[in-house]
Amino acid sequence: MKTLRHQRILHLDGDAYFASCEVALDPKLRGQPVFVGGGRRGDGIVIAANYQAKRYGITTGMACFEAKRRCPDGVLVKPHYDEYRRLSLEMFRRARRYTPLLVPTSIDEGFLDFTDMPDVFRCANAGELVGKMKRELAEEVGIPVSAGLASSRWLAKLATESCKPDGFYEVKEGEERAFLKDVPVQKLVGIAERRARSLRAIGVWTIGDVALLPLEILRRRFGVFGEELWLLSRGELRERLSLSNKPRTCIGSATTLPYDEPDYDAALLFLLDQTERVITTFVRENLKAHEMGVYLRFKERDGAGLGVRFAGAQFEPRVINAEVERIFWQLVAGRTEPIRQVCVNFWNMEPLNLEPDLFGYNQDFKRRELHHALESIEHQFGKGSVKTGTRLLLESEASHLVGDKPKCPFIPQREMELKMAELDLPRTWGRSTSRAVKFA
Ligand SMILES: [Mg+2]
Repeated sequence: MKTLRHQRILHLDGDAYFASCEVALDPKLRGQPVFVGGGRRGDGIVIAANYQAKRYGITTGMACFEAKRRCPDGVLVKPHYDEYRRLSLEMFRRARRYTPLLVPTSIDEGFLDFTDMPDVFRCANAGELVGKMKRELAEEVGIPVSAGLASSRWLAKLATESCKPDGFYEVKEGEERAFLKDVPVQKLVGIAERRARSLRAIGVWTIGDVALLPLEILRRRFGVFGEELWLLSRGELRERLSLSNKPRTCIGSATTLPYDEPDYDAALLFLLDQTERVITTFVRENLKAHEMGVYLRFKERDGAGLGVRFAGAQFEPRVINAEVERIFWQLVAGRTEPIRQVCVNFWNMEPLNLEPDLFGYNQDFKRRELHHALESIEHQFGKGSVKTGTRLLLESEASHLVGDKPKCPFIPQREMELKMAELDLPRTWGRSTSRAVKFA
């Protein structure tokens, strides 16, 4: 009889991801030191450097001029975030053929359930299969990756780190404790300076130190986290990989204006545009919100905020914008100082009601369909091809606030999972579009 196996988790991580993407996009860069960065006036910082560039001491966060000084022959490239996202999706799409479950955690990292995979693929061992996958990603997508295989996510990630770049390391069952013995606790995700300090207070510097303590001490001080840490340190932590799928409880955005803005009308347009962006995000996740808060920060760093509870859960930009506008004027009443930052938050979320009723489709359903239609138009005609009235007003009345700064490239895990799910399902956009347009 076959014994039940513990789950084996593979961690996958793109090597110097942004820089690797640039090389994948422009093969002329292959073999050269490449660093990505720039900023609008060429005064920015390095956001990624490949391993050839790292040899010159170039690190993430370093000023570009300093990087150029250290490595005059290096190539400085501006970031292409849309391309990074595209390659990321392509990388995950291929990686997923090697597993029944893939959980992406960032633009270039994810965990794969790898329990029975070597058998399924008739490979002698995990290393052989991972090698095949790594080759496919390097040759077909152009992205070198490193991978670590172990019994938990924590351990798999450490295994990856131990073999970067372009490596694979497996922590075999029974070898966990030896592998972890001298690893400093700060290397673990979730242990920042504060936790590390509390751990040092009980004599813990390395994961090996944790294994020597009684479980009770860790449980009392750190709760569930302490218990998991203790199990990990003894090589006994087993977990089941699963998609997050936790419904969102709040969503918001805080954006610093490109300049301290003395013109309140312009700042309001900017805030409304941000609000619509946030609404789009939660409607995409089939949610609506009962409550909203608006917060403004002024030049002298002081701020003012106000919340509101809608009569029913809300997702209509028309209704929400009217509230944002009302709150905004209330917050700036009697003030004269320029606005530095605008924030809008939604919480107390509720799922959209997507059940068709007796009389056809309800408002939630129509809004969602309209949203899909607009997305498919953008998909077809490119980003920015669909503009709301607010966006047009912002561009014509306050164009100096229309940022040309690229947005943060990180794809939140939830959004990534949705994207992955989309890959599975045949698109029904064509059908949805015609119906939604009729409603609109
Ligand atoms: Mg990486």
